[in-house]
Amino acid sequence: MENPYLDVDKKVLSEIYTSSEPLDNLTILCDVYGSRFAGTPGDKDSVEWMVKKLKEYGIENAHYENYQMPGWIRGPAKLEIISPLERQLECISLPFGIGGEVEGKLVDLGDGNVDIYEKRRDEINENIVMVSSRNPIGLNRHLHRREKYIRSVLAGAKGWIFVNQYPAYGPQTGGVSPIIPAISISYEDGCFLSRLIEREKIVKVRITTTDKNIDITSFNVVCDIPGTSDSKEYVLAGSHYDGHDISQGALDPASGAVTIIEMARVLNMVKDKIKRRIRLVCFGAEEVGLLGSYNYVEQHSSEMEDLRFMLNLDSAARSGKKGIILHDHPELETFMDRIAKEMKADIPYFQRVSPYSDHWPFFLKGVPCGSGGDPEEIRTSTGRGYGHTKFDTVDKVELSHLREAAANYARFLIRVANTDEWPARRKTQQEINEFVKKQGYDETVALETRVKNYVRTWEKIPPETKAWLERKSDW
Ligand SMILES: [Zn+2]
Repeated sequence: MENPYLDVDKKVLSEIYTSSEPLDNLTILCDVYGSRFAGTPGDKDSVEWMVKKLKEYGIENAHYENYQMPGWIRGPAKLEIISPLERQLECISLPFGIGGEVEGKLVDLGDGNVDIYEKRRDEINENIVMVSSRNPIGLNRHLHRREKYIRSVLAGAKGWIFVNQYPAYGPQTGGVSPIIPAISISYEDGCFLSRLIEREKIVKVRITTTDKNIDITSFNVVCDIPGTSDSKEYVLAGSHYDGHDISQGALDPASGAVTIIEMARVLNMVKDKIKRRIRLVCFGAEEVGLLGSYNYVEQHSSEMEDLRFMLNLDSAARSGKKGIILHDHPELETFMDRIAKEMKADIPYFQRVSPYSDHWPFFLKGVPCGSGGDPEEIRTSTGRGYGHTKFDTVDKVELSHLREAAANYARFLIRVANTDEWPARRKTQQEINEFVKKQGYDETVALETRVKNYVRTWEKIPPETKAWLERKSDW
C-alpha cells in the first residue's frame, strides 16, 4: 500500500530514534520533581519545567492552566496489634482518609465482594475492616477500592485497612474519601493478620493517622501544533503527569507525559504537513479522581464539539505493543486497518470502555476516544504489580518502549488530523448513559449519596468530613 506520508514519517521516526529526549525528560520529572502529586511542591515546579521544555522545542503557546481542588497531605500512620499480642506493622495512610485514632476488633473480609458488608454488619459495626485490593472472583465488573471503603463505612466500620494483593511490593496506595481513618499494608502483613484471626478468633488493633484534607491548586500543561487549514476541528492527546505521593510515578504516569512531550517535539518539526490542530495536554491530579481532565473538559466545554478524537496515553511505555483501545468505535476499524498498512507499523486495536483514566470526562461529553494499549496484554496481564507502590521508579522504564509509543501515536495523530473523511461517530447521551450503567458506575454514584446521607446522621462529624459532604461527587 502506498504511504502518502512517507516523507513525514521518515522525519518523525528518524528524530525519535536518534534522540533520547523522552527518557532524559522522564528522569528529570521523577528524580528532580518527585511524585508530582497534586499539591506537593514538585507539582507546580514540574509543570513550570514542562512548559519551559516545550518552549525550548519551539512550541510557543505552551502554558499551564490552574484549577482549585480538594487536596490531601500525608502524615505518619501507625498500625498496632493490641491483643492477643502486641506488635506494630508497617503501614501508610490512604489519600483522602482523615486523621484520627481508632481501636477495635479486626474483621477480615477477604476480597470484599459486594454483599459481604451487609452480611457481616454485626461484626463490622464499630470495628475495623481489612480487605484485599483483589477483585472478587466471579464479579463481572471492577470493584473499586472506594466502593469497598464506602460499603465498609455503611456497615459501621470506624477504621479501614487495605491489603495489597501483590507479594513483595509493600503497601499499595489509592484514594478513598474523608470519612474514617484508612491505611494500607503489604500482602505479607495482610496474610499474617489473616492467620492470626484464624488462630486466635479475636484480634484487636489500633490505627493512628495524622493526614490533612485541605484545598489546593493544581494544573494542566497545554500546547498546540497549529494546523495549516482553517478548520475548527482538532485532535487531542494527553496523559496525566501526577504520580502517587509515595512513588516516582515513573511508568504510571510519567512515561505517558514524556511521550506527549516527545510527540509535541517531533510533530512541531513537521507542522507544515499537519492540516488540523493537534492539542497536547499533560493533566494533573488524575490519581486523586481524574480532577485535571474533569477540570480541563469544564474549562474548555465549548471546544468539545469540534474535537475529532481524544487519545489518552496514561502509562504509555508499558511493555507490549503500542496499539489503541478504542472506546467503542467499531466505525474506526477500517481506518485503523488502513493506516497500520500504510505506516507498516504494528499498531493493533481492540474495543473496550473503562472509566479509570483521563479519557473518561471526554467520553462523558460524547467525544470519540481511545487509549494506548495492547490487546494481547489484556489476556496475559497479571495486574497492577508495582503500580501505585513506591517501586514505580525510573529504572522500570525503557527507552525502546518510549520510542515506539511516540512513533506509533505521533503518526496516528497526523493521520487523524489530516484525513478529510473522519468516520468517528459521537455518542448520544442515551448511549453514554447505557455505558455508565453497564459499568456499574451509576450504582457507585448512588452508593455515594447513600453514604453521605448516612454520615449526616452522625452526632459528631469531623470538619474535613463536613467539607466533603458539601462537595459534589468524588466519582
Ligand atoms: Zn495513570
